[in-house]
Amino acid sequence: MKPVRLAILGLGTVGGGVLQLLQENATEIKRRTGREIQITHVGTRRPRPDLNLEGIQQSDNLLEIVRQPDVDIVVELIGGLHPAKDIIIEAIKHGKQVVTANKALLAEHGNELFTLADQHVVQIAYEAAVAGGIPIIKVMREGLAANRINWLAGIINGTGNFILTEMREKGRPFEDVLKEAQELGYAEADPTFDVEGIDAAHKLTLLASIAFGIPLQFDKVYTEGISKITAQDVQYAEELGFRIKHLGIARRAEKGIELRVHPTLIPKEQPLANVNGVQNAIAVNASAVGQTMYYGPGAGGGPTASAAVADIIDLVRDISYTEDGSGTIPQLAFESLKDIPILPRQEITSGYYLRINVEDLTGVLADVTTILSHLGISIDAILQQPRLKNRIPIVIMTDPIVESKMDEAIAKIQALPATHGEVIRIRLESLEH
Ligand code: NAP
Repeated sequence: MKPVRLAILGLGTVGGGVLQLLQENATEIKRRTGREIQITHVGTRRPRPDLNLEGIQQSDNLLEIVRQPDVDIVVELIGGLHPAKDIIIEAIKHGKQVVTANKALLAEHGNELFTLADQHVVQIAYEAAVAGGIPIIKVMREGLAANRINWLAGIINGTGNFILTEMREKGRPFEDVLKEAQELGYAEADPTFDVEGIDAAHKLTLLASIAFGIPLQFDKVYTEGISKITAQDVQYAEELGFRIKHLGIARRAEKGIELRVHPTLIPKEQPLANVNGVQNAIAVNASAVGQTMYYGPGAGGGPTASAAVADIIDLVRDISYTEDGSGTIPQLAFESLKDIPILPRQEITSGYYLRINVEDLTGVLADVTTILSHLGISIDAILQQPRLKNRIPIVIMTDPIVESKMDEAIAKIQALPATHGEVIRIRLESLEH
């Protein structure tokens, strides 16, 4: 059988990793696919003497590469929306299979790209786009295929998890740990995507689409970052038996789907609460199997390349099943995706942690509890902390309540004359059912 021919576009952290992995493990991979993989082209805009590119054509004209007849699979690893989108479109139009790690592009333009891929009977494989080394796409598509997914909750941004772990273990402030994360190369120079939850929202968009068969709806994900979390909140949560994690949550609710990324209090004994540092983990609650959790490195050249090469191997197998080497098994059944509504934030129900800084006036606590009880919000625990700079922090944990009611309560507490600064709210999930 003739080799399957590959073009790798972008030789950065992941692209360079994919090239090296394919070269180092060529014998193993051939044994697993029964077919040789030949890298015929790489897209690079500068010489790469550090890589073995012998016998491989090099060019900075990526559109031209994807049109070449000696390319069966295009591996897009340049990142960003443009020109990546146009290059993938051109590849699909030329009948090429596509592998990508580009979560931003798929979350924002995936509907268009997957539809086009279906029309041209090719696949876009993207295991590497979500949680790096954890094969979560494969798990949901294959391992859990018999189940109805009820919900999934994941730590899907390693940088954010590193920051929260350091804040908890060492009592360090957010800014200080963020600076270290940048020095260690975990966070980008512009860390917005990581700490404000945009990167996690991209990944959640992809996960929810597979879990529930819904179109990609990045613009409907409620997204809140971790930059307002203080070391104080982390410590209070700990005293109450909880950990704060930055979770991406997708849940099938009665009237629609919840899609949200925000800091979340979870019970300390939950496995997700004990995922520390840059590690990622995703808990999935599914109808037949119950709750399972998948854990591992969420980023980095090795883990992400491992996922991309696994996709390449799958495609090589698919290509080999077909007579002429061009057909393939449709992977997303995109036309059957159902447009279930995504619930607005105000309709989501959860428990809450509230931190209110108040002046030391008699009756303040009674005012706060009265507001909550008038709105039907029951209190689960109250923690009154020692005075901090003339203010007394009151921490309240509530039972689950619809978010619109909590908005009302917070507005009223905020308006009390004794309240100082912003009322901090962190949502709470038991992750049990
Ligand atoms: P990277 O290290 O910045 O690599 C990108 C490479 O693409 C660079 O070598 C760059 O070339 C090259 N490139 C960009 N535009 C090009 C163009 N027009 N023509 C030729 N080459 C071009 O990025 P990365 O970390 O490998 O990320 C690649 C993709 O993987 C992104 O979509 C990212 O979101 C995704 N991803 C990365 C990780 C991770 O841990 N790194 C994890 C999950 C997903 P120059 O060197 O000349 O700039």
